[in-house]
Amino acid sequence: MGIGLGEDTELNISGSNLRGVWRSLEFIEKLKSGQIDELQIGKQIAVIGGGNTAIDVARGVVRLGGMTQATKPTVMLLYRRSEKEMPAYAHEVRAAKQEGVRFWWLTAPVKLMGYGRVKHLQCIHMKLGEPDVSGRSRVEPVPGSEFTIYVDTVVLAIGQKSQAEFFKKIEGLALEENLVKVNEHYQTTNPKYFAGGDCVNGGATVVEAVQHGKLAAEGIHEYISATTAISSSATAKK
Ligand SMILES: Cc1cc2nc3c(=O)[nH]c(=O)nc-3n(C[C@H](O)[C@H](O)[C@H](O)COP(=O)(O)OP(=O)(O)OC[C@H]3O[C@@H](n4cnc5c(N)ncnc54)[C@H](O)[C@@H]3O)c2cc1C
Repeated sequence: MGIGLGEDTELNISGSNLRGVWRSLEFIEKLKSGQIDELQIGKQIAVIGGGNTAIDVARGVVRLGGMTQATKPTVMLLYRRSEKEMPAYAHEVRAAKQEGVRFWWLTAPVKLMGYGRVKHLQCIHMKLGEPDVSGRSRVEPVPGSEFTIYVDTVVLAIGQKSQAEFFKKIEGLALEENLVKVNEHYQTTNPKYFAGGDCVNGGATVVEAVQHGKLAAEGIHEYISATTAISSSATAKK
């Protein structure tokens, strides 16, 4: 099974259902399939997140053709940690900067405001704290540092949910933090099922998913060879 991840993770702040607030996957789909008018991007767009998806959104908008300097939107990317901690590829971040994306490091969203359609985004400055168990710096808000920016469009790109409900239907298949648990052969806890890619690692890269696929194929081959050998030796004994 290599079914990837599901819908975008929700950002639990008020105003996230206002018009003009998009989930990254739907936004990218419309952007890449030529339904740009439906997006009504406007003049100021804020992308929230620090991964490859956030970068894809920001670069996709900043590179839109058919715009003059006067109609070109300002693209801001807000990330709660610093540049060093950004999960997006460094070369993509460099390219985004060259193309005009404005990065707001150590900035987290607090709430979205507007009547019907989003108009303002309230943010807060963050500071890095001690590293957590994974070695990643914790982040905490700087008290009293809230500020508000004007926005026409906001894209939430903070990750995708796992497809846990799908996997729960498979008997004996264990999940760990909603991801499929596998051994070194990418075999799940139900021996007849193998899994790899984003549904196992929670979202990484194409190269990693392909590698999981290759190792799982070897694992499947070994498993079938072993079970076939057992059943043919049992038949021979009879
Ligand atoms: C916007 C975005 C930008 C990214 N940019 C990069 C990048 O620049 N470089 C990079 O290396 N990685 C990037 N990634 C990550 C990369 O796309 C994933 O790590 C990779 O695609 C994972 O592969 P996968 O096979 O596990 O899942 P997927 O590629 O998601 O494939 C899963 C497939 O399973 C299908 N499926 C889902 N549910 C079912 C079901 N119930 N039954 C049957 N089929 C099902 C889906 O339709 C899909 O075709 C990006 C991801 C996103 C979202």
